Amino acid sequence: MMTKERFQELLKPIADGLFGKQRTRYGEAPHYTVRPVGMIVEDLCRIPEDEWARYAFSREPLNGKFTDEQRLDLTRQAIACGREYAEKLAAQYSMRDPEKLAKQLGLNVDYPDMPQNAERVLFAEFREPNNIHIYMDGVRKGRALLSEPGVSHALTGQLDIAKLLLGHELFHFVEEKYKKEIWTRTYKIELWAPTPLHNRSGVAVLGEIAAMSFAKALTGIPYSPYVMDAFLVYGYSPEAASGLYEEMMEKTGRTPRLPEAADTDAAPEALPK
Ligand SMILES: [Zn+2]
Repeated sequence: MMTKERFQELLKPIADGLFGKQRTRYGEAPHYTVRPVGMIVEDLCRIPEDEWARYAFSREPLNGKFTDEQRLDLTRQAIACGREYAEKLAAQYSMRDPEKLAKQLGLNVDYPDMPQNAERVLFAEFREPNNIHIYMDGVRKGRALLSEPGVSHALTGQLDIAKLLLGHELFHFVEEKYKKEIWTRTYKIELWAPTPLHNRSGVAVLGEIAAMSFAKALTGIPYSPYVMDAFLVYGYSPEAASGLYEEMMEKTGRTPRLPEAADTDAAPEALPK
């Protein structure tokens, strides 16, 4: 019998897929109750930005070094950092559109269908020194879901999937450009090391959380871009997205809904097969 831990382990590759670099093995997916996509985004869009702390940190290799209180505190600082740099750039260039800002900053942005290594689900990536790839296969699948009941209402007219992904990746460029001073890079934790050696380490997830708040601040969407983790995965696997939804709801202290309890107009027969 499958344990809950094993479920989590199998889900992890796809759960990490949005902005991470994990491999996905289809066919090994665990079983989850599939929810209508409208129900998923409706619930996830209500979660305040800082309450994503535990979910965000669950993807951090050093997660075990922190208490929930520290995770929340660091998440808030990362959110403030992302927002600060969004406002700084918006003021400096008098624009908020991630596409135009990317051009101003000298980035090359391209829109291929899929990553070269098609074994992984990946929606966008930044490659040093100044390249951003936005993968349109996932973007198109996401756009197609916008006509499902309740989805565009929850995600609002502010959402442009490609620009949101670009905004996120743009932060990784900004982070690199200001690496000597930006908080997400200067913050270090002390790991164990025999004295008198010191072993100080950066915390990678802080850059991810800040990239989310940077993209949110630029695009003006009223919810956390972490919602896209589940939403865009839904385009590939409604079941994996439902598993992510359960995990997100649980890690933010909520109870995931079941389709029967849906109070939306999403009819079961409207579910993608
Ligand atoms: Zn990222």
